[in-house]
Amino acid sequence: MSYLWENNVRKVTPYVPGEQPKETDIIKLNTNENPYPPSPRADKILREYESGRMRLYPDPDATVLVDALAERYGLKPSQIFVGVGSDDVISVAFMTFFNSEKPVLFPDITYSFYDVWADVYRIPYKTIPLTEGFRINVEDYKTENGGIIFPNPNAPTGVFEPLEKVEEIIKANPSSVVIIDEAYIDFGGESALGLIDKYENLLVVQTFSKSRSMAGMRIGFAMGSEKLIKYMNDVKFSINSYTMNPITQLCGAEAVKDGEYFDKTVARVIATRERAKNELSALGFTFPDSKSNFIFASHKSKPAKEIFEALKERKIFVRYWNKPLINNHLRISIGTDREMDRLFDALREIL
Ligand code: PMP
Repeated sequence: MSYLWENNVRKVTPYVPGEQPKETDIIKLNTNENPYPPSPRADKILREYESGRMRLYPDPDATVLVDALAERYGLKPSQIFVGVGSDDVISVAFMTFFNSEKPVLFPDITYSFYDVWADVYRIPYKTIPLTEGFRINVEDYKTENGGIIFPNPNAPTGVFEPLEKVEEIIKANPSSVVIIDEAYIDFGGESALGLIDKYENLLVVQTFSKSRSMAGMRIGFAMGSEKLIKYMNDVKFSINSYTMNPITQLCGAEAVKDGEYFDKTVARVIATRERAKNELSALGFTFPDSKSNFIFASHKSKPAKEIFEALKERKIFVRYWNKPLINNHLRISIGTDREMDRLFDALREIL
């Protein structure tokens, strides 16, 4: 007997997140987390939160968080959408804006969630090959499409594309929404935020998971024209109003207000990254220049898979994909200086 209900299942191949090992005595450089704790102001919220408040539904508009972000980025609250990690934000954006018969465009080497959202929402898409050195060729995005998304800096390559290139793509596509996924922008890139007043169809997405050390709290946000944000909120409030819990809203707002701590933490990660570039080069690795909190490295003689496994035996986790085009690269997140020194020692041994 066949079970016909199965014909009606929305079947998808899910996204596979990086490993979150249960052991604690490891060096974890595999999911681009920040090695430093979040702002002490967020810590204070956690310590002082009264559990009795859990009885109540949270503010569906996450006003404290939206207002803090509006203040920080010089926008109106109506230009900001918040969600449960930028994964949630981008997923809502796909559902809201990518409803054309024409394909959505994104690079062939990029965040591996984009094709999964396209599949789950039945959105046609086309991947555009990156050129030499993992660069975007702007001309490739001057073709009919149902939307465009790419990260800047790109993941997993770490390559940052200058704003002139980003703007040229936006300018050439007034009939589509263009999403710039700026998950890693705070580590040295230049945000497209300054362009949102000029282009009604530009959505800039950022996250608290990397530069603000709050991956576990799940906070992402999008900034754009009031019109774009209204459309996203309409979709979000048609699915689930109460996505963000009150503790998260408060911790996020406090973290945003702590500009000094943010600047200090980001500067530390950048300094370690620059040192890591020298160390890795000396060890025989090559990589595109990174403006993110990771380096996408390939060794001149030893296959990436072997290095990945040898590091894992030494309890050092980096990210490896057994996928065409990138199967000889390791994506190494930037940890503390001590963690990175342990990595370099291990690599010296392995190589
Ligand atoms: N975009 C890119 C390019 C990423 O690498 C990630 C991290 N996996 C995300 C979005 C999602 O991050 P989060 O949901 O933690 O904000």
